[in-house]
Amino acid sequence: MTFNYLNLVGNAELIKQLNYAMIYRLIVQQAPISRIQLAEISHLAPASITKITRQLLKNKLIKEVDAQQSTGGRPAVSIVAKFTHYQTIAVQLSRSHVIVELYDLGANCLVSKTYPLTDFTEKLAQKYLITLIEQFIQEYSKKIKELIAISVVMPGLVDSVHGIVRYTPHIQVKEWHLAEALQKQFKTSIFIGNDIQSLALAESYFGTTQDVDDSILIRVHQGVGSGVIVNQQLLTNHNQSACEVGHIQVDALGDRCHCGNFGCLENRVVNRAIENRAKQMIEQGYPTKLTIESCNIANICQCANQGDDLAVKLIKDSGENIGRAVAIMVNIFNPQRIVLAGELIKSQEILLRAVNNALNTQSLEGLRKNLTITCSTLNDRSAIGAFALVQQALFNGSLLMTMFEDNAI
Ligand SMILES: [Zn+2]
Repeated sequence: MTFNYLNLVGNAELIKQLNYAMIYRLIVQQAPISRIQLAEISHLAPASITKITRQLLKNKLIKEVDAQQSTGGRPAVSIVAKFTHYQTIAVQLSRSHVIVELYDLGANCLVSKTYPLTDFTEKLAQKYLITLIEQFIQEYSKKIKELIAISVVMPGLVDSVHGIVRYTPHIQVKEWHLAEALQKQFKTSIFIGNDIQSLALAESYFGTTQDVDDSILIRVHQGVGSGVIVNQQLLTNHNQSACEVGHIQVDALGDRCHCGNFGCLENRVVNRAIENRAKQMIEQGYPTKLTIESCNIANICQCANQGDDLAVKLIKDSGENIGRAVAIMVNIFNPQRIVLAGELIKSQEILLRAVNNALNTQSLEGLRKNLTITCSTLNDRSAIGAFALVQQALFNGSLLMTMFEDNAI
């Protein structure tokens, strides 16, 4: 461990970055807003606001709109964010697909394309990814005025600080320096991150946790992942990993997990586990509308919503097990909101009731008093999480500083 002095030193460059970040964020989130209001809220001197807004205007990140009604004196000019001048490419790598999307700075998805993922070694996947992005840029060149970033998210251990993929379940990697390779090829800012952590960030910027400071997102799909937001910031550590909820033990006598332990949450609640249990029960003659052939998670959710006894019990069992993990997270982090994502949320009512039941008996009352559990409003298969990493870099000012430098050349 080395002394982490970066948290303590505030040099002039960092202060400048933070001030620009604060003003840009205020304009994005509270527009239309006048310079006087910006000075009042930020406690910066009016001269600083003039300087910062001039730079943001020059770089086409904000624009002036009609004057606000004034209560006397000169009418104040309102400022709003300008989202359309710059674009970013957001990529989500999943087990079998690559989703490539084009966003403007207002989080509006302008193009969404899905390609199959057929290369499963680091070298081939990188080559394929570069070719896909090159083709995408060429195909949609008319929609791209100025590309400021490319962002890639995927499951696994992704070191977003150093731009290295250390582990991802479906591609063989050994310290995959993906950010460096993409930067060399595309000469723009590159961000990489874990897909679930990025989705948690996306929820806090654009989804159901915008109005709270502390939240946790749990997504159940092929695995179980989570992202923790504390004080509006994504919680990360030295290893860029935190809260592997999937490997919390929920059943001491449960099946062996791929991690080597027994009875992990992941083994009980991922889509495949639910589908397999449904098949076993059907084979043993449990009365249900489901058949061996129709036993996929979408149908199980649909049947549960129609009151099919087996389907309801399967969703309820998953909800109770997720609830166990949620209760542990609540006792540790005391969030204001928990967001659930994944195919299971199609049976929202049954799922939430089961999660709440487990939570009410396994977490501290004082910690769950102001807690709400909701389902994700963002399409969990889209690349919005990748765009959230770009939004994060705009809101912490680092990407703004890069853009100013590039535009000054
Ligand atoms: Zn495990």
